[in-house]
Amino acid sequence: MSDLLNPDKEFYPDDDLNHENTVRPQSFDDFAGQGHILENLEVFVKASKLRGEALDHVLLHGPPGLGKTTLANIIANELGVGIKITSGPVLDKPSDLAGLLTNLEENDVLFIDEIHRMSPVIEEYLYSAMEDFKIDIMIDSGPNARSIQIGLNPFTLIGATTRSGLLTAPLRARFGINFRFEYYNVELLSSIVERSSGILGAPIDFEAAIEIAGRSRGTPRIANALLRRTRDFAQIKGNGIITKDIADFSLKALKVDDNGLDEMDNRILSTIIEKFKGGPVGITTLATAVGENGGTLEEVYEPYLIQEGYLMRTSRGRVATEKAYKHLGINYRGQNPM
Ligand code: ADP
Repeated sequence: MSDLLNPDKEFYPDDDLNHENTVRPQSFDDFAGQGHILENLEVFVKASKLRGEALDHVLLHGPPGLGKTTLANIIANELGVGIKITSGPVLDKPSDLAGLLTNLEENDVLFIDEIHRMSPVIEEYLYSAMEDFKIDIMIDSGPNARSIQIGLNPFTLIGATTRSGLLTAPLRARFGINFRFEYYNVELLSSIVERSSGILGAPIDFEAAIEIAGRSRGTPRIANALLRRTRDFAQIKGNGIITKDIADFSLKALKVDDNGLDEMDNRILSTIIEKFKGGPVGITTLATAVGENGGTLEEVYEPYLIQEGYLMRTSRGRVATEKAYKHLGINYRGQNPM
């Protein structure tokens, strides 16, 4: 199993992340899929431009690698405004946030990635900034300490999160626009792979693009990373063109799962089957057994496994399907009659 299949960008070397920036779509037209999000956003963006007002605050949620950061950048491009980028864990002190907010030009975008990881103190500050475009900051300390209010330029906050369940209700309520990202199907992913290969100057056959797409866990980040590795194989082992044979050879050499499941996906399935007789097993028990947080299982891993038919969510817990047994090469005897 390869680390390449992990959708979380923390697992990617800087080179891959730089490459992500090279192939990142810049406009609504370049952005594949997520049709219902784009249809709505195009209207909201046009309307706010017509009125000359800042776009409402936008919350983007969904599993890692599906294009939240990309879309935040596109929104700023399409609005024709600047964007400042930060992330929840990086905002340590209220002054970090105040520094960013006071530097925003009128109608600019402030993008906060992993917004669920912001500290409660920072979150409090954000409330009045989002609502009234004002912040209170403390000056001086001790007996002279006093708070003064600073007016901000109107701005759009775009928050991205993989764990929407961790957002507090007051923060969530301050976003006028709220979108959930879906996994991409093979057709969309192969169009993303073909577009990226064009940008990289690495020609790819249609069948090879489909092969890479089918092993990318529904995730553009993984598709692009696999493309980069297969390009290396095409250059060294072939004539530079990524053919179906080269793609098969590279994916095998990289030990990429036939169905594009990553290590945690496989651990979840084998744990349910081996330790819990195929289920049903409660999410908390399962989380402890695989050594992952229950919320992450629910919001990051489970949706893909359910969508692809490896896992079922029942009132009594999670159940591995026949497809999961087959995938792991374990005999299925019609376990878990529901
Ligand atoms: P997230 O912020 O959701 O973790 P990113 O926006 O960083 O994901 O996307 C990861 C990579 O996938 C980027 O390099 C981007 O080029 C690519 N990507 C994501 N969504 C799309 C899309 N809809 N069309 C084309 N490329 C995409």
